[in-house]
Amino acid sequence: MKRCEKCRTLYSEEAAACPKCGVKEYEEAPAGEKPDKGSVARDWIWLAVGIPLFIGLIYLLVYVIKLLG
Ligand SMILES: [Zn+2]
Repeated sequence: MKRCEKCRTLYSEEAAACPKCGVKEYEEAPAGEKPDKGSVARDWIWLAVGIPLFIGLIYLLVYVIKLLG
């Protein structure tokens, strides 16, 4: 599938230009793939890594304070 750069209409590979507005510029539109899917997955990775790291940092801080006090 192709996606028109101008009007975002999805159209067939065989078509030379957009059937709606006639613009020839297009981008590849893979079936069943949403453009924001990748960024959502990246956010979850950051949460999965960031939260344990944050907890670990607090434990380290408490340990250092106990060591000094
Ligand atoms: Zn178009």
